[in-house]
Amino acid sequence: MTASAWAPPTGRLEQVRAFMDERVLPNEHVLDREDDEADALVAQLRTEAKESGLWAPHVPPDAGGTGIGFLDYAYLNEQIGRTVWGQLVFGCQAPDAGNAEILHLFGTEEQKERFLHPLVAGDVRSFFSMTEPEVPGSDPTTLRTRAVRDGGEWLIDGHKWFSSGAEGAAFGIVMAVTDPDADPHRRASQILVPADTPGVEVVRAIPTMGHRGRNWSTHCEVRYTGVRVPAANLLGGEGDGFLIAQKRLGPGRIHHVMRWLGQMQRAFELMCAYSLGRESFGEPLARKQTVQNWIADSYAEIHACRLMTLDAAHKIDAGDEARVEISAIKFFAARVLQEVIDRAIQVHGARGLTDETPLAHMSMLARAGRIYDGPDEVHRQVVAKRILKAFASGDGWHFS
Ligand SMILES: Cc1cc2nc3c(=O)[nH]c(=O)nc-3n(C[C@H](O)[C@H](O)[C@H](O)COP(=O)(O)OP(=O)(O)OC[C@H]3O[C@@H](n4cnc5c(N)ncnc54)[C@H](O)[C@@H]3O)c2cc1C
Repeated sequence: MTASAWAPPTGRLEQVRAFMDERVLPNEHVLDREDDEADALVAQLRTEAKESGLWAPHVPPDAGGTGIGFLDYAYLNEQIGRTVWGQLVFGCQAPDAGNAEILHLFGTEEQKERFLHPLVAGDVRSFFSMTEPEVPGSDPTTLRTRAVRDGGEWLIDGHKWFSSGAEGAAFGIVMAVTDPDADPHRRASQILVPADTPGVEVVRAIPTMGHRGRNWSTHCEVRYTGVRVPAANLLGGEGDGFLIAQKRLGPGRIHHVMRWLGQMQRAFELMCAYSLGRESFGEPLARKQTVQNWIADSYAEIHACRLMTLDAAHKIDAGDEARVEISAIKFFAARVLQEVIDRAIQVHGARGLTDETPLAHMSMLARAGRIYDGPDEVHRQVVAKRILKAFASGDGWHFS
C-alpha cells in the first residue's frame, strides 16, 4: 500500500480547509481569550459549521453526524487540529466525541434518545470519569469507585479526577467497580450519571501547567457520594467497562494524533517562515545549519507521523483493530509534537514564549499528550509485547 492509495476526500477537505482559513484561524486571538466573547464566537462558528454540512464528522448520520471513515477523517481532522479550537467548532471535541461513539455503539434506544442525540447536536456537553487520584490511571483494574445494585438503582460512591469538561456538563459516563470478585477486566462497568443527580459534586477545576481553561476543557475533581441512578443507566452489560473503554480509547487516541498533525504542521510552518525573516549575525536564521537541521528533522518526523496515521486509519476502515499501529503512533507522535513545537519556539526566541504566536499555548497542551489516553511507557509496552509475542510464536512481525 502506498500513500497515494490513501486518497484524500477532496471536496470535503477543501471545504474544511477553507472554513478553518477563513472563519476559525483569523479569529484565534479572540478564541484564545477564553472569555464570554470567545464563547459567543464559538457558538456562532458552530452554527456555521452545522449549516455547511461539516458537523460532527466522527459519528454516523443516524447519530446526528456526518459519518465518514477513519481515513477521510484523518485528512479533515488534521485541518481541524491546526488550532486547538477547531474540534469545538466542528463538534468533535474530546471527551464528547468518544462518549458519543460509545453511546452509539452500546447505548439502548432510550439512552440514545436521552443522552446521545442532544450530545451530538451540541446542545449539551458530557464528561468521562475514569481516572482516580488514589490509584494509577494506567492500570484501571485498580479503580476504587463502587457501584452497588440497590433494587432498581445503582448506588455510586467514589472519587475521580481529570474528568475533563465536567464543569457545566449535562452528564458523565462513570467507570465504577460493580463486581469486585470478578476477573480484573470484568470488575468494572460504565454508568450514565446526569450531572444534577444529588451526590455528584464537581469539587474543583484543576489548573494544569498554570492554565485553568474554559469549562468545556477544564480537568475536574469529582466526588460521588451516595449517587443514585436508575439501573437502566448502565451502558452496555455489567462488567463491560473495560471492553467499552477500549472501544472508546482506541479511536480516541488516533483522533488525537490526527489533530496533533495539524499542530505539528502549524508549528513547522511558523518555524520556517520566521527563520526566513529573522536575521542574526548578518544572515537569516534559515541559513544556520542548526536551524536547517531542525527543519529537516521536523519535516521527516511529521511526514512519518502522517503516513503512520493514514496507515492505521486505513487498517481500521478495513476492519482491523490496529492495536500496535495505534499505540505506536500515540507515543511516537506525542514526542514529535512536543519536539517540533519546541524547536519552533526556540527559533522564535523570546517571542516564542509570548502570546504573539500560538506556540506557547500549543506547547503547554502538547505536554499532556504524553500522558492522557495512556502514558508513552504503556504504549511502548503494548507495541513491544505484541511484537515479541509474534516472534515467540515463530511468526515474527511483518510490516504490512
Ligand atoms: C489533559 C488530561 C486530560 C485527561 N482527561 C481525562 C478524562 O477526561 N477522563 C479520565 O478518566 N481521565 C483523564 N485523564 C487522566 C489520564 O487518562 C491519566 O492521567 C493516565 O491514564 C495516566 O494515569 P495517572 O495520571 O494516574 O498516572 P499513573 O498511572 O500513576 O502513571 C504515572 C507514570 O508512571 C509511569 N508508568 C505507568 N505505567 C507504566 C508502565 N507500564 N511502564 C513504565 N512506566 C509506567 C508513566 O511514566 C506514567 O506517566 C486526563 C489526563 C490529562 C493529563
